[in-house]
Amino acid sequence: MKTIIEPFRIKSVEPVYFTTEEERKLILENAFYNPFLIHADRVLIDLLTDSGTSAMSSNQWAGMMQGDESYAGSTSFFRFEKTIQDLTGFPLVIPTHQGRAAEKILFSILGGKGKYFVSNTLFDTTRANIEYSGAEGVDLVCEEGKHPSIPAPFKGNMDTESLQKFINEKGAAAIPLCVITVTNNSGGGQPVSMQNIREVKAICKAHGIPLFIDACRFAENAYFIKQREESYANTPVPEIVREMFSYADGCTMSAKKDAFANIGGFLAMYDETLAQQCRNMLIMTEGFPTYGGLAGRDLEAIAIGLTEVMEEHYLQYRIRSIEYLCNKLIAAGVPVMQPAGGHAIYLDAKAFLPHIPVDQYPGQALVGALYVHGGIRGVEIGSLMFGKYTPDKKLIPAQLELVRLAIPRRVYTQSHIDYVAEVIIEVFQQKGTIKGLRIIEEAPMLRHFTAKLKPVI
Ligand SMILES: *Cc1c(COP(=O)(O)O)cnc(C)c1O
Repeated sequence: MKTIIEPFRIKSVEPVYFTTEEERKLILENAFYNPFLIHADRVLIDLLTDSGTSAMSSNQWAGMMQGDESYAGSTSFFRFEKTIQDLTGFPLVIPTHQGRAAEKILFSILGGKGKYFVSNTLFDTTRANIEYSGAEGVDLVCEEGKHPSIPAPFKGNMDTESLQKFINEKGAAAIPLCVITVTNNSGGGQPVSMQNIREVKAICKAHGIPLFIDACRFAENAYFIKQREESYANTPVPEIVREMFSYADGCTMSAKKDAFANIGGFLAMYDETLAQQCRNMLIMTEGFPTYGGLAGRDLEAIAIGLTEVMEEHYLQYRIRSIEYLCNKLIAAGVPVMQPAGGHAIYLDAKAFLPHIPVDQYPGQALVGALYVHGGIRGVEIGSLMFGKYTPDKKLIPAQLELVRLAIPRRVYTQSHIDYVAEVIIEVFQQKGTIKGLRIIEEAPMLRHFTAKLKPVI
């Protein structure tokens, strides 16, 4: 088998920014050990997120020139709407300025005190929007998904037994919605099998609970199904995508992921009454239903991106480039979530830095070390992001302490990825020198974005 190449050539480039290790030490200190507070031009390889950071194609840029900026009834909206209808089968399509705006609208309508939203794993903004409504978010990921170092094909699956048990316990009336996140971002970018979606649907249907898909990475998930679920080996990706959505009653989507757009999102569904409630809220918070907080040109870029993302050469390159990095790290003995996820590498910070206790945020400490050593920016997905406190202010840690290195789509080449592997391996060889952190300032919700930290001496 020959090398799997980047399935594009480069027409326009932008510089990367070089700094010295000494400079980066100071920059990190001034950013209070929080990568979100570092200026982007002080980062060499930016793996903070794959969200909104994709390289758009020449077709998308051309499409942007065709954006119809009419306030109402824009032709770009109808192109956007038709693309999503064809892709998902959902007839009602509501644009939003990004994924969390779709969530805010949906969960303000369906949420409230005493309600539970069950999921394989809720993403942080999804959980925050649920909790802000007064409801509770419940993660029921399968057992395999809880063990980072043990490979399994579909670690994003929902635990159907726990789901059934939870419904019996709380009663279906208290559960307005079940959400399947594909791929499971907070659980390592791991895919969900078609079989699992089907089983979850059957349980939900039996209890009259609607099922929504958090569809941010639907194409990556579909490609994993093609690779790993035998009966789909010869099924074209768009057909797999259509089948995934066929089991759901609706979806929320961030177009900043699998639509190669720099901004955007949407809600889509069957239920007319719910859609009307969503549109009423949309007009208050986002804009008129034919633009929903986006420019006409963004709607064009999203529509084109949603089609490009299902090309199999692209998906093969995409999934392979993450696996390539993962395999290099495994070969060097670096503790990494296995198998590779669809959009990111997840370092297991608890195993990487066993000398740092969880209440000193080993994930965040590792993020800092990767930045100082190689100018690489990643993000902690662990107790800084998901930790809670007991009434006497003791940390209730997250299930896993991970560092996510998300790979932007179509942005970095193989030599960039080789460099990333070298930096991680070198940091691993000197891991004993890395110190834990403590929080000196934090917000009550989504604290990881703004928290300020200091090394524990
Ligand atoms: C990014 C993301 C969201 C939120 O989308 P934004 O566009 O960032 O608001 C929701 N769910 C998942 C799984 C995501 O990855």
